[in-house]
Amino acid sequence: MTKASAHLDTVVSDIADDMRARTERGDVATYIPELARVSPKHFGIAVITADGHVALGGDSDMPFSIQSVSKVFTLTLALGRYGDRLWRRVGREPSGSPFNSIVQLEREQGIPRNPFINAGAIAVTDMILSGHQPREALGEILSFMRFLADDPTISIDEAVAASEQRTGFRNAALANYMKSFGVLDNPVEMTLGVYFHQCAIAMSCKQLAMAGRFLAQSGRNPSTGLQVIQAERTRRINAVMLTCGHYDGSGEFAYRVGLPGKSGVGGGILAISPGEASIAVWSPGLDAAGNSHLGRIALETLSKRMDWSIFGA
Ligand code: GLN
Repeated sequence: MTKASAHLDTVVSDIADDMRARTERGDVATYIPELARVSPKHFGIAVITADGHVALGGDSDMPFSIQSVSKVFTLTLALGRYGDRLWRRVGREPSGSPFNSIVQLEREQGIPRNPFINAGAIAVTDMILSGHQPREALGEILSFMRFLADDPTISIDEAVAASEQRTGFRNAALANYMKSFGVLDNPVEMTLGVYFHQCAIAMSCKQLAMAGRFLAQSGRNPSTGLQVIQAERTRRINAVMLTCGHYDGSGEFAYRVGLPGKSGVGGGILAISPGEASIAVWSPGLDAAGNSHLGRIALETLSKRMDWSIFGA
């Protein structure tokens, strides 16, 4: 083992010990009833370096609901299919608003600020759905995750999907509102059905860090050597993760962690140290902006101790 790998192992194990001992853990999301059943006690971390070293800590093998982390992967798929035409449907500016805010949509004629707030992600999913049945579109998203993570066992938690389908009134409002501006092409129920299921994909930190490797490696999937997406697009996805990946907590995340990252209300965060590592953390307790409380603290420590901030040593 190289000295750098040994150092990373020590840092990851210190972080897992530190997070296990913390009492202030944030609040688990309750607006999707099924997510409220998850214990806030969990913490997991997985780091996969560009040279293939894997460092794991805590509950790194326990699957959780990836929720909005899925938006990075649907954006990648849609960019692959539509190229820069995608940006006619959705912007790429930070929203400065909560993830499910409706006010900005009215002012901006139904064009969502960015692909990572709910409205933007629903618009991206609608683009993936076009020309397909919902089942096929979902199959495409799931196969993409399995291919990236090199793991055919990744699946959808149907109970979580059904739970959100029953209670996702705000997302239905956002989708109907966009539909009224002609931003969605497909029937609202179909687009939402795919969106709720993509959010309900269950993955462990290890699987998620595996799936994110292409973002740390200029678009290349190291398992197959295949280029998932062009290097230039990869840089741009990372840029949107940095500026928009944590909703109205994106500035704070960039300030403290200094890495592109995407959070989800299941408590997961995928963070990328370009050229260095793909990182996934999970702790279900959230802060006021809906981002994992301990996940952010863990990434702040990791980036500091590994000198990984993109803003310099
Ligand atoms: N499925 C969730 C929702 O639409 C995703 C939100 C999130 O993870 N921030 O509300």
